[in-house]
Formats: sequence, structure tokens, C-alpha cells
Amino acid sequence: MNTPDKNRYENMKYARCGKSGLMLPKISLGLWHNFGGVDVYENAKEMVLRAFDLGITHFDLANNYGPPPGSAEENFGRILRSELAAHREEMILTSKAGYLMWPGPYGEWGSRKYLIASCDQSLKRMGVEYVDVFYSHRPDPDTPLEETMMALDQIVRSGKALYAGISSYSPEQSEEAFKILQELGTPCLVHQPSYSMFDRWVEDGLLDVLEKYGVGAVVFSPLFQGLLTDKYLKGIPEGSRASKKHGFLQASQITEDKIEKVRALNEIASARGQKMAQMALSWVLRDERVTSVIIGASKVSQIEDAVAVVNQSALSAEEIDKIEAVLVS
Ligand code: NDP
Repeated sequence: MNTPDKNRYENMKYARCGKSGLMLPKISLGLWHNFGGVDVYENAKEMVLRAFDLGITHFDLANNYGPPPGSAEENFGRILRSELAAHREEMILTSKAGYLMWPGPYGEWGSRKYLIASCDQSLKRMGVEYVDVFYSHRPDPDTPLEETMMALDQIVRSGKALYAGISSYSPEQSEEAFKILQELGTPCLVHQPSYSMFDRWVEDGLLDVLEKYGVGAVVFSPLFQGLLTDKYLKGIPEGSRASKKHGFLQASQITEDKIEKVRALNEIASARGQKMAQMALSWVLRDERVTSVIIGASKVSQIEDAVAVVNQSALSAEEIDKIEAVLVS
């Protein structure tokens, strides 16, 4: 059994998730890549333990994370049982259902049948009695929104999750979902959208809707899966996400135009004493409505780089303008 660092809460900053009672660390760790059955278990364990030592209390999972699907939850459950069992109550564990998990008509999207069965499976894989947040992972164009929201409400009422969340819903769908959940008596805690310098859709209405309803924004892929780092400046390195067959970042997404921008941004980062990856996180966190950024990592040092950001200076208005000029060029 691991003994976590007794100073683990000293350097991390925590922010309230929307208007709820729940505090989340500014940096959260996601287990989408590098924690699955195809990955090295010891490395996954080291990353989770180091994250917890650095004050990261929030671990983001989903039914399908792996590969194979389900294996990230199994691995996380194993780490929890063998190393951190005494600390479950200090953690926010999340899971989601929405993408393909099992064959047939009940293994994806937003039906009550799928969400409730999938939540039960996630609890078993992780070996926990409840998750802290259960998400509808994506909107389902064919299932009535009421049905999906009633399933979330039921999951919370049955004690299998403490809070409900939605992910990647448009501003209009989000507003509808928030109203339904409010009427049901289980207000939505959190929306999980993508957000980074290269992916700014949340600025077109979603953040305003979240503010209006007091829902937190916990954003994913703040580094655009690694592109907003210095990693791809000289091609695609061996072992990087873009080099892996099962990596979600495609080589075709690494365009010359984006690399040119990263090169210019990297200079702005160096001038303020940050790594490119760190400035990309500072930029996302400049908006107070962003409760937390969920980073991914393939090694411990990436988590350390990210956590350092919370105690680095915030971007000045002038720096934000300089970054904007690069992004719109
Ligand atoms: P990021 O944009 O943070 O990308 C993480 C990747 O960037 C790492 O795996 C690593 O890639 C690279 N990286 C990280 N730090 C550094 C660094 N300091 N220097 C160089 N490279 C670095 O996030 P993800 O795309 O991984 O997403 C984060 C989490 O968000 C997921 O784990 C998941 O929990 C959640 N998510 C949710 C979705 C949803 O639909 N709700 C969808 C996608 C993600 P490498 O392997 O190349 O080292």
C-alpha cells in the first residue's frame, strides 16, 4: 500500500464547480490514453500516484477508455485497491457512457437501458460502490433528452453516482438538459467540452449558458492531444500519441499551418519562462468559468509540468493579445 505525500494539498489550487458545493483541482487527470490494457501498468500506476501526491484529486474515466474498452477502469480499480484504498473519499472519480461499448442496439448512445447498465459495469470494473460524477458522454439525436436525463437522475438517486454531468452537448442541448435535470431535482454539476487554443467552440455560447445555469466547465484535450506542446516541432517522435496505431491524434491533424503557429506560440511561452504545454494550460485557465482542465499524460514529468502551472503567473492582457494574433493569423 502506498503512503501519499502528506503535503499533497499544499500547492494545488481548488475551485468550485459552477455553483455547487464541490471543489475540483485546477488540473485533473484523464485516463483516456496510456492507462489501458495495451499500456505498461507500472507506468500508469506511477502516474496516478504522482498525480495524487501533487494534489490532483479528480480522475476522469469512461466506460470505453483503453484499449481494449473497459481496461482503463479496470487498471484504475487495481491501482485504487492496491495503493490508495484508504483514500477513496479524497477523490473525485468520474465515468461516462455514450460511445460504443458493447454490440447490439443497447451498447451506445443515450437510452436509459444503456446508461444504467453501463454505470453498473463501470462500478464493477473499478471496484467502487459509487462514482462521484456520471456523464452522458455525447448527445443522442434519436433518444428523447428526457429519457437520458431521467437515467442520470435515477443513477444519482440510486446512489451509484453523487452528481450528474453531460459532455459535448451544444449550448442549446445543454440548456434543455439543465432545465430537465433541474425539474427532476438533480441539477447538472458539470459540462465537459473540448477546449484549447486550436478548438474554441465553447466560446460561441456554451460558456455563457454554463454561467447562466451555474454549471461548471471541466474541459478536455487542453493540449489538443499533445499538438500544443513542443513535441511535434521536428516531426512525429517515436512513442508519441500521433505515432501510435491506437492513438486518437492522426498525423493528418498535424498540419504545417498548426506547427507554424505552435512555433510562434512557443516563443511567447519561452519569453515568459513557460514551456509551450504550460502556456497552453494557462491560456485555457485564463477564463474563470473554466473550473478545471483535464490533461492527459504518458509520463510522470508531463503531470509535473501541468501542475506547476497553477503557481505560475497568469497571462497578462498583452500576452493574451500576442497569442490571439498568432491564433488568428
Ligand atoms: P491533452 O490535450 O492534455 O493531451 C495529452 C497528451 O499530450 C499526452 O498524452 C501527451 O501525449 C501530450 N503531453 C502532455 N503533456 C505534455 C508535455 N508537457 N510535453 C509534451 N507532450 C505532452 O488531453 P487528452 O486529449 O489526453 O484528453 C485529456 C482527458 O480528457 C482524457 O484522458 C479524458 O479523460 C478526457 N477526454 C474526454 C472526452 C469526452 O468526450 N468527454 C474526449 C477526449 C478526452 P504523448 O502520449 O504523445 O506523450
